[in-house]
Amino acid sequence: MQIGEKKIERPFRWGIVGGGKTSQVGYKHRLGAMRDNTSFVLTAAAFDVDFDRCKEFGKNLCMDEDRLYPDYQTMFAEEAKREDGIEAVDIATPNFLHYEATKAALEAGLHVICEKPLFFEVEQGEEIKRLAEEKGKIVCVTYGFSGFELLQQMRSMVTSGMLGKINMIDLRYAHGFGCDPEGDVKSEGQKWRVDPSKVGRAFVLGDLSTHTYYMSQMICPDQKLKQVLCDRQAFVGSRYPLEDNAYVLMRYEDGAVGRMWCSCVNAGDMSSQHIRIVGSKASLEWNDMHPDELHYQPQGQPEQILYRGMGYLSPEAQEDERLGALHYTGLIESWSNLYGRFAVAMDAKNRGDEETLKNLVYPDLEHGIDGIKWINACAESADKGAVWVDVK
Ligand code: NAD
Repeated sequence: MQIGEKKIERPFRWGIVGGGKTSQVGYKHRLGAMRDNTSFVLTAAAFDVDFDRCKEFGKNLCMDEDRLYPDYQTMFAEEAKREDGIEAVDIATPNFLHYEATKAALEAGLHVICEKPLFFEVEQGEEIKRLAEEKGKIVCVTYGFSGFELLQQMRSMVTSGMLGKINMIDLRYAHGFGCDPEGDVKSEGQKWRVDPSKVGRAFVLGDLSTHTYYMSQMICPDQKLKQVLCDRQAFVGSRYPLEDNAYVLMRYEDGAVGRMWCSCVNAGDMSSQHIRIVGSKASLEWNDMHPDELHYQPQGQPEQILYRGMGYLSPEAQEDERLGALHYTGLIESWSNLYGRFAVAMDAKNRGDEETLKNLVYPDLEHGIDGIKWINACAESADKGAVWVDVK
């Protein structure tokens, strides 16, 4: 159980790029990182494209005004001059800045936590991998819900063989918040999401499905994706050639199959993410509208609902518990668990503790690169007329 005690000697001094007052995701990062006060301390920030807005926001967070910066280049340079400069940084900007900001952060000697989707090209991921190795730094990716206790429970049940051989992986991240085309013009956070020069080759495939795809990989670590067949559409026509809806079929190396539906035009549906893992003996099902319930369905027996916070969960799942059963939790517990692991990974890297790094389950650089491969294979398949393509 997590009750906020320290897991590393002292918290990392931590900065943020992006994630400002108007951002959708900034508060989640701060909640995740600082929930326990023992992993990260927010020390400096280049929160915004607009420096006045950055300063006003930083003041409202009671931050030291001297450590609010107009851009990340100035922040990295100025912080490097200080004895108490930042040691890790978050990149929570629109997607097109992830690569250059991550590269600059590594070159400045910082550990990095970057938003998804990581970058646009696999080659960029490989280059960053080489740079991170050279600098001895960690790069983490914030697949936000993947640190949640019942997803860890799914992993424990899959890897211990309770489901038998995994045959089908059925995934969905589909909501309706992109139904109104007005949002593409009016919302600061939506404008760049539908601009190919800022978002890359895909909209919802990158914005939504990379989360669920990573979660499925975390739950089923032995399933290696081989091929995808993707059909994608822009039901709001102005989004073309990007998609606001996509169906993907998957083939895994061991013969298992899967499918993913991702959409932001699934009008009216409020239960967005669904994960169903079907094995030869039993199935598991979870969705993020009822995150505290995991459905376990052994063939020929009554279904069981496993609840968060209970002693019958695996030790790995119980490790992620925070408030106790009946005290309802959700996404922020997951972000806090992830940030706790990010800090442990960075600390282990600093100490050369490869054993800890090997056993730690968290979205790392390799998983971020897998996300790029996923998006690019889906886009390639769709653009060739919905044909099977290799994931590479
Ligand atoms: P947003 O447009 O709402 O906010 C972007 C923020 O970055 C704003 O504060 C903006 O001022 C700032 N910014 C833009 N350019 C900057 C620059 N050059 N320097 C410093 N700050 C800059 O976007 P968002 O929805 O918060 O998304 C940001 C990132 O987070 C995206 O990569 C998105 O995919 C990701 N995201 C992840 C999750 C998750 O659950 N992990 C959820 C939402 C968004």
